[in-house]
Amino acid sequence: MINKKERIILKLSGEALTNSKEKLFSQDILKNITEQISYLIKKYQLKIGIVIGGGNIFRGSFAKSLGMIKNEETADHMGMLATTINALALNIYLKNAKIKSTVLNAREIKGLLKEVSEKNIDEAFLENDVIIFGGGTGKPYVSTDTAAALRAIESKSSFILMAKNNIDGIYNKDPNRFTDAKFFKQITFKEFINLNLQAIDHQALEKLQDTNVKIIVFNMNDKNNIIKLYENKLKIKTVLTK
Ligand code: UDP
Repeated sequence: MINKKERIILKLSGEALTNSKEKLFSQDILKNITEQISYLIKKYQLKIGIVIGGGNIFRGSFAKSLGMIKNEETADHMGMLATTINALALNIYLKNAKIKSTVLNAREIKGLLKEVSEKNIDEAFLENDVIIFGGGTGKPYVSTDTAAALRAIESKSSFILMAKNNIDGIYNKDPNRFTDAKFFKQITFKEFINLNLQAIDHQALEKLQDTNVKIIVFNMNDKNNIIKLYENKLKIKTVLTK
């Protein structure tokens, strides 16, 4: 389904970097992600852009429970900074495994990180196999799903592999609570929005409406699921298209 040597975007939520036992990061999970990426790069000469969330550290919505409700934008910037911390952490793991990897951030951090631009992406991919995108979109009121959509367009990627935890694709309602939940093997962006499904930020889908980028939602919990998905061996997944 995905051509060799193609650029792809892998969207990982912040929670995908941890587990119920460990707080910020799980070493085992970071190692596992690193191993899978290393395998894919070596075997298929892929160029992978990783868009990373921040939910293991901070989300804008946490502000409410902490009594910061009047500071929504600041809270969102805290969430975006959390994604940058995650990007730097994952980059250390990839580099330690001798993967050519770098971080671009939505906003430049002088002396540390360059900002995302099409030029910087192309230059970074000349020298690296992986670019980790930190800082979300750089703008409040959206999630890193929207960042994944933007980075797919900017990096000329045709697929976003959207990793989920404990759920294997898109349902019309929570399958853990409703036994009659309907699973979608395929769904269009418009159908998803019209049904008011919430697993993906609607703004992300709106950004992709005029492109050929496809999103594949899959369960990340099994150890080799990124590889299985790429090799078309993962039977249960949802494909979203325009
Ligand atoms: N965020 C934002 N703009 C963006 C991306 C993220 O304001 O473009 C903030 C938002 O508060 C969000 C937090 O950063 O809750 C962390 O991102 P996200 O919730 O997407 O992380 P994930 O759930 O994927 O771990």
